[in-house]
Amino acid sequence: MATLFESEQMLDSIPICDTHAHLSFRHFDSDRHDILRTIERGVLSFVVEVGIDLDNSRKCIELADSEDHVYATVGVHPHDSAKVATGKYLETMEAFVSSSRKVVAIGETGLDYYRDLSPRKVQKQVFIDQLNLASKMKLPAVVHIRDAYDDALEVLRDEAPGTKVVVHSFSGDMECAKKIINLGFYVGIGCPITYKRNDELREVVRSIPLDRILPETDSPFLPPQEMRGKRNDPVNVRYVFSMISDLKGISLEECSGILLENATSFFGIRRREA
Ligand SMILES: [Zn+2]
Repeated sequence: MATLFESEQMLDSIPICDTHAHLSFRHFDSDRHDILRTIERGVLSFVVEVGIDLDNSRKCIELADSEDHVYATVGVHPHDSAKVATGKYLETMEAFVSSSRKVVAIGETGLDYYRDLSPRKVQKQVFIDQLNLASKMKLPAVVHIRDAYDDALEVLRDEAPGTKVVVHSFSGDMECAKKIINLGFYVGIGCPITYKRNDELREVVRSIPLDRILPETDSPFLPPQEMRGKRNDPVNVRYVFSMISDLKGISLEECSGILLENATSFFGIRRREA
């Protein structure tokens, strides 16, 4: 097993990617440019910038259109469902998707009963509508679930057959992970895999097939253990790659090859040559 220090050195030469970030958030206003130049230098093969509402999805597309190694998604987060539910948001989303070849998925969409910022009935309808849009546009769906796994998995089972789905920043238990895998979906794993008390998530990662895992950060949120309380950024996805290779007992090279292949095929991204 490599120490983290060795892993970090090795990772400088190993291709990695972040499948879920929010670089358009104000948290990055002071140094977004520097982070984007780091990505451009090849520290990351690519980053998927994830939209949370209509205005933000537009920003994500602008970012992707101006940066070779950034891709965008178009979505309405469950928190924001009530803001759009009565409007023509699906038409707007469809127009956004058609406006750029860099749009690679619908989402994030889903159910969040932890904060309950939109009524649950509305969350559910807006979730179903976006899954149907993903199917119509032949795009994968990036799904956010918090304290709502039973309901969300029921919706996914009924509404997303034939659609590629990733349950991002997975926070459920083993049984839940197995259900997601059995439905043919993917599990997004971020820096919480490094948290001291997260043995359950590490056990999940040990058990599920590596080819169903997508690496992510959810930056600016969920920084790795040793940076808790600070802002997260996409480069920290190296902690995720490192921990997953340890848990799977394989080399970083092999692990990164598989994770990168998962991500590029899931989003239909053509990988740049290293
Ligand atoms: Zn997110």
